[in-house]
Amino acid sequence: MKIGIAGARGSLPTPSGKTLFGKVENTEFGGNTTCIYVQGDDGSEHILDAGTGIRDLGVSLAREGGFNGKGKQLQLYLSHTHWDHIQGLPFFVPAYILGNNIEIFGEAKVKNVKEGTKVSLEDNLRGQQDFRNFPAPLEVMKGLTRFNDFTAGTRVYQSETLTVDTFGQNHPGGSVGYRFTEKKKGGANKVFVFSTDFEPKEADAIQMVAHWEGADLVLADAQYEPKGSLIKENTFMEGWGHSDYRTNLAMATQAEVKKLVLTHHEPKMGDAYHRALELRAATEAEKIAEMIPGKERVKVELAREGRWYTL
Ligand SMILES: [Zn+2]
Ligand SMILES: [Zn+2]
Repeated sequence: MKIGIAGARGSLPTPSGKTLFGKVENTEFGGNTTCIYVQGDDGSEHILDAGTGIRDLGVSLAREGGFNGKGKQLQLYLSHTHWDHIQGLPFFVPAYILGNNIEIFGEAKVKNVKEGTKVSLEDNLRGQQDFRNFPAPLEVMKGLTRFNDFTAGTRVYQSETLTVDTFGQNHPGGSVGYRFTEKKKGGANKVFVFSTDFEPKEADAIQMVAHWEGADLVLADAQYEPKGSLIKENTFMEGWGHSDYRTNLAMATQAEVKKLVLTHHEPKMGDAYHRALELRAATEAEKIAEMIPGKERVKVELAREGRWYTL
């Protein structure tokens, strides 16, 4: 399977880094919010999240990728419907082309906590394109053929060689992680896990380790500095639903993950900070491996827009 990063920024896009009162260099890691493209060996195509990275991806898919209205299929999976994970959808060209076959998957959301009334995924997305918010309503996106509401834990895709399973994560309103398992010739499996927008509590870290178990590649939210970090900027925001490199490395080492790629980069932080963070994470990976007997050092790097991984 091939995995491409079309957007790695969290919370809000950061296109240039230029501001009225200065500049934060932002070009190395990219400014688009979350969007990941996955091609299976079975020929299937999948997108994880519809942050602003989906705009450029959609232009390529419509022009060169065959999404020109002749029945091509694609699954778009949402981790959740916070704005940074859906704000690119109204600009996703293949979704406007009649004859494309794009299915969207996500959890129905609880509208009123007291009453427990759920809003369907379709209604939830319709709100973003209500005429007060955007000129083109969801109804004119003729390439969207189906909205699939599911509960975390459900398998959302299965072919002879590829399965996509889901799991729930701790985040305000909840979020979903996705685990892709691909059967290779000779019987070995390759596993890719997408785990963004989660804040592991001690009680659920064990479950997260199980969801990451043995993965070849885990793409995980590490927006903030770890609790107690000596770095005084980008401090950990308790209860905001995000993680950090130290927590992720501890879980990835336990889970025997081969490579951990950190994502959902904090919008206010630029390239210099993220380059330094990557070095600190590599040092931490070594320390953690030494502390846990029998475990290997996890390879760790930061997600960069435009980078591909092949498993
Ligand atoms: Zn987010
Ligand atoms: Zn979120």
